[in-house]
Amino acid sequence: MDFKVRNRSLPSEMATHHTADDDLEAYSLGQLSPAASAHLEEHLLGCTGCLDRLAGWDEYVGAMRGACRLLRPSPRVRTAGGHQ
Ligand SMILES: [Zn+2]
Repeated sequence: MDFKVRNRSLPSEMATHHTADDDLEAYSLGQLSPAASAHLEEHLLGCTGCLDRLAGWDEYVGAMRGACRLLRPSPRVRTAGGHQ
């Protein structure tokens, strides 16, 4: 199997399998399986287009998480305050 061959000099081959938005979103959320994450990261090494799209998803997910914290503060925040 040539699965693990490092052929970064062949971006044209990688470009035929761009990462789906669903996968980028799941990756940003940390919900992508380890195997799928590894495959995605390998693609991102040679594809700035998908890397830019992932950055967009990260921004979106970060904003969503920020909004969630405002609505429901994490219990950890309370204990970290050192209340006596
Ligand atoms: Zn791509």
